[in-house]
Amino acid sequence: MDVNTPLTQLHRVGDKLAKRLKHLGLETVEDLLFHFPFRYEDYSQTVAIKDLHLGEQVTVKGRLELIASKRSWRTKRLVTEAIISDGERQLRVVWFGQPFISKVLKPGDQIYLSGKVGQDMLGPQMISPSFEKVKTETTHTARIVPMYSLTSGLTQKQLRFLVSQALKCSPLVVDWLPVELRKKARVVDLVSAIKGIHFPSDKKELSESERRLKFDELFVLQLRGEWLRQSLRSATAPVIPFQEQAIRDWVAKLPFVLTRKQKVAAWEILQDISQPRPMNRLLEGDVGSGKTVVAALAIYNTVLNKQQAILMAPTEILARQHFQSLTKFFAAEKISIGLLTRSQAEGGGEGLSHGRARKNICQAVKNNELAVLIGTQALLNEDIDFASLGLVIVDEQHRFGVSQRKMIREKSGLTKILPHFLSLTATPIPRSFALTLYGDLDLSIIDEMPKGRKPVLTRLVEPQKRQAAYDFIQKQIRAGHQVFVICPLIAGEDEGMASEKKTVMTEYEKLSQKVFPDLSVGYLHGRMKAEDKAEQMKKFATNQIQILVSTSVVEVGVDIPNATVMMIEGAEKFGLAQLHQFRGRVGRSDQQSYCLLFTESETETARERLHFFASTTSGFKVAEYDLQQRGPGEVYGLAQSGLMNFRLATMRDQELIKLAREMARGLNFSQYPELVQKVKTWEQSVHWE
Ligand code: ADP
Ligand code: MG
Repeated sequence: MDVNTPLTQLHRVGDKLAKRLKHLGLETVEDLLFHFPFRYEDYSQTVAIKDLHLGEQVTVKGRLELIASKRSWRTKRLVTEAIISDGERQLRVVWFGQPFISKVLKPGDQIYLSGKVGQDMLGPQMISPSFEKVKTETTHTARIVPMYSLTSGLTQKQLRFLVSQALKCSPLVVDWLPVELRKKARVVDLVSAIKGIHFPSDKKELSESERRLKFDELFVLQLRGEWLRQSLRSATAPVIPFQEQAIRDWVAKLPFVLTRKQKVAAWEILQDISQPRPMNRLLEGDVGSGKTVVAALAIYNTVLNKQQAILMAPTEILARQHFQSLTKFFAAEKISIGLLTRSQAEGGGEGLSHGRARKNICQAVKNNELAVLIGTQALLNEDIDFASLGLVIVDEQHRFGVSQRKMIREKSGLTKILPHFLSLTATPIPRSFALTLYGDLDLSIIDEMPKGRKPVLTRLVEPQKRQAAYDFIQKQIRAGHQVFVICPLIAGEDEGMASEKKTVMTEYEKLSQKVFPDLSVGYLHGRMKAEDKAEQMKKFATNQIQILVSTSVVEVGVDIPNATVMMIEGAEKFGLAQLHQFRGRVGRSDQQSYCLLFTESETETARERLHFFASTTSGFKVAEYDLQQRGPGEVYGLAQSGLMNFRLATMRDQELIKLAREMARGLNFSQYPELVQKVKTWEQSVHWE
């Protein structure tokens, strides 16, 4: 038997059991070794019968005095009754429907019983405890007992038995972590960790085993990031020196003073691009924290050095928004800017067809007459020849653009000179999480809002106050403002979109006909055509629609400063990070804005989450809380990406995350071919988006 042995060859594994194991993804001995318990029951304390207390989870050790099975005349169930004695006292034990027990256990046997202490009129008793004959190495009793995730037809006892068999060949598992790195990280060896995670002799062994296995998960991810980072570092990028005077003059002319964090971020970026190695940086800042101007500053410095820049947005609407802001920012600088998307082309000449304008833009880019090109991510697929591309900026990329980054790399791979890369995101990813996820990226964070912003007031509205909320909305609209109404998320994959449409239409009818018959109400959902969506957005932007009923499709970055109320139905169904994005749609002017949360949920945890959300306007605090409660897969929709397929490590493992990152940084891979191999095999097992 070795780690690759199929489970079918294990003792007591027949076809039926093999099938059930396969259900859990367990086919080989190795699979079993890495099928970690999801929790433990601590039965390590053996208690004298006289000291038993009702409700305690304990182990009792004693001699079996008497055992007998009979059929209950009332329920027809088989009942096995026994009495054990620890020399001082006796304890009664009952098992239901387990006829084999009276065949395995015989009077006179020394046994362990682990379970909960019960009681009836005659005193203490144990009902259906785990049992085992006394021996030095127990599996089910008198120890910290592992509890595994199961499937139907499979019991804890069976699985524990199989794991204990598999553990016999755990010494054959090769520890991929070199000894000196193990020492440096102060982690135990892999073989001990595998034994200790399944059958720890005490809490210390358990926590040491966990620590090692968590470290492995985090370290592989960090190694991959570092590997990417180093391969990028050996690439060449254009040197874009800091044009200090010109930049200072430009900043001085801005209609506002940059926040301290904006300055720091800008400085980090300028440092990076002045080096002959490609920048690979993530700029993270809460909604409205002013990332665009920082991006503009980097673009300006690039253009001053006769290099070109691309700025990509997730949607056409946002691409236009950026085109307009940059045009404003560079009004006096005489910088040529182009906008190129599927339906828009500007900067190629007035009054031309889209095709014609597009052609002109491409020509100008090629001749270095156009300095800045703005578009959607579709630009990546276009065949555009840049005269000298120095900087690529991606705004609000979905799923953090692992694949886009790869594409940029591949595209520019031909020329050997890579542009600098900057990614902007308003998704408040806590630093620890960002570091875990993007070992290859450097990070700048703007966690400070421009002066004078009024925090959005958030309230959890009780069902009986609904009418009052509607009255409040009425008042806001009277005062000239506008309102978003977000409909609850519908679970279920196939029907999701269709039923969301239904929910939106139902809510829309209710609001437009019953609640606000005199107001102009509009709707937006994922089933609508792009043109119709754009049309609705435009009407909302121009206040022809006063209340917009929508699903979660309300675009990120949509800027309707006149909207002051964000009302969210079924709020408990959304992740807090997403609620925060919705809330970011209001509070974009000097007017006080409001976020009203409705929930039907009575559960304490749901309400607690929403109350927490209402208590803070910091996207970072919200994300941190959300991550702790629900895990990254849920929060960032990464569950399917394989990226977060950690079995043990979580974002709470701050110390280990830091350690893994520090140890990966600057590692000399040529000294550790086994680590490179590990990263490669790991990468194949993960499904990148
Ligand atoms: P985001 O970070 O969400 O992309 P934007 O870059 O769109 O935010 O900025 C939001 C608004 O704040 C814009 O109107 C921008 O001009 C303005 N702004 C940016 N920086 C500052 C600042 N330091 N002080 C005041 N307003 C600012
Ligand atoms: Mg933005």
